[in-house]
Amino acid sequence: MKILIAEDSVVSTHLLCATLRKWGYDVIVATNGNQAWAELQKEDAPQLAILDWQMPGLTGPDVCRRVRKATEKQYAYLLLLTSRHLKEDMVEGMESGADDYVTKPFNPLELKARLRAGRRILDLQAELLKTREALREQATKDFLTGMWNRPSILEILGRELARSLREGIPAGIVVMDLDLFKSVNDTHGHLAGDQVLAWSARRLQASIRIYDAIGRYGGEEFLVVLPGCGEKSAVCQAERMRQKLEREPVRFGGNDIHVTASFGVTTTTPAVELRPEDVIRAADEALYAAKRSGRNRVCYLPATRVPV
Ligand code: GH3
Ligand code: MG
Ligand code: MG
Ligand code: MG
Repeated sequence: MKILIAEDSVVSTHLLCATLRKWGYDVIVATNGNQAWAELQKEDAPQLAILDWQMPGLTGPDVCRRVRKATEKQYAYLLLLTSRHLKEDMVEGMESGADDYVTKPFNPLELKARLRAGRRILDLQAELLKTREALREQATKDFLTGMWNRPSILEILGRELARSLREGIPAGIVVMDLDLFKSVNDTHGHLAGDQVLAWSARRLQASIRIYDAIGRYGGEEFLVVLPGCGEKSAVCQAERMRQKLEREPVRFGGNDIHVTASFGVTTTTPAVELRPEDVIRAADEALYAAKRSGRNRVCYLPATRVPV
């Protein structure tokens, strides 16, 4: 594990370095507070740091305050090492954001125990972040397809509509519905249906640009948000998705299952404030036109604001 030592005394640094290396740490040395701060800001910064109080440039407590202000970084466990023995100094040090405080000359066994406590905190922190990430994934993604779920894609749509109005750039909205999907379930079973859904989602995902967003809007319906796309490019993008699905059947249980989908496309209109329900209504109407005229095709309708 990486550890940062910030210390201006050469003798102290040598002693600490040797001790920490013996304990298996990968030691990074800074000889003043500014260097320490620079090290702690790096992408791959050490999460454990021993900071001397008194150093040229920023002091140990200064570095602690800066680290604590930069909340977007991963948590760093900061240990102040100082020859100040007064209780008030300890309080001041902890208030600057240090996690712990060791007085010089350090007792190796004590330092080792305190570092172990620090690592426990870091492990807990990492565990917490992992759990939070997993929860966020569960709350925002659709379980079967791994795409945005309905609330998430609607939120993205809302944001994109606001941006489109504010910046005067178009946005394309596509509603896609798999054709005759009931018969896939009826012929091959529900499990095959699930597999086809998941694979279709993957195919759609692979055919959009990175700034486009796609979510599962309903059972076998998907909503695609295409920032910056006017009618022509939105229709083109939908056509690409349509062809991709049509061309590549899904293999399940030794069978090739052919699926197609119908697409309803709409776009925002400059200077018209559209709500998500306005564009979804237009895209839905276009989708039904596509279904009525034979399925496996793309239809377009402009969006208008519908009075409430
Ligand atoms: P159309 O071309 O008119 O859209 O025909 P369709 O059969 O796709 O339309 P319909 O709305 O009648 O049926 C949709 C089917 O999608 C019915 C439902 O069983 C199936 N479906 C919805 N969600 C899931 C799912 O999560 N897994 C599976 N296997 N099937 C699903
Ligand atoms: Mg679901
Ligand atoms: Mg369908
Ligand atoms: Mg449907």
